[in-house]
Amino acid sequence: MLIGVLCLQGAFIEHIRMLERLGAQTKEIRQKKDITGVDFDGLVIPGGESTVIGKLLNDLDMMDDIRGFIEKGTPVFGTCAGLILLAKSIANDSHCYLGTMDIVARRNAYGRQLGSFATVAPFDGLGDVPMTFIRAPYIDSVGKAEILSVVDGKIVAARQDNQLVTAFHPELTDDTRIHEYFLKMIASRG
Ligand code: GLN
Repeated sequence: MLIGVLCLQGAFIEHIRMLERLGAQTKEIRQKKDITGVDFDGLVIPGGESTVIGKLLNDLDMMDDIRGFIEKGTPVFGTCAGLILLAKSIANDSHCYLGTMDIVARRNAYGRQLGSFATVAPFDGLGDVPMTFIRAPYIDSVGKAEILSVVDGKIVAARQDNQLVTAFHPELTDDTRIHEYFLKMIASRG
């Protein structure tokens, strides 16, 4: 199973470590030639700064290619900034990046004081999982997507067909269950 991990900025190394710990093979995506002609089983768009990752995707001419993978059904997992990049719209920002997922994201949604925090909360079918939020977004509303987790009344994880997003960073904990959930999404693709 080959997972392409977008390595332009942000918390990508932790995703790679976790995926490899679970037996997946990973490939770092840093430039267009890393994706041209490659058949990925899955893609990860990590947390970081969505404005920076979005700008680099455009500058490196990879935005359309990544969107193309997602539109043809390649499973994708976006964490935090990755969630923002996948969202169809951003409530408090006029940008739209990949725009493939029918959710409205809200950037830096917890404000300054609650910018970063850790909690434990239920996630679809997994029971309680540890969640690390870093200047996180949340999801204001979902269209076609299914809600997977709600923390303090805010939607923090969702899925729409081949797209999975979390507002938190599962790769920054020792708990591998969310990554396993993603790998199962890939395995059940048939
Ligand atoms: N605040 C960042 C943004 O708006 C997201 C933070 C993160 O990915 N941890 O893109």
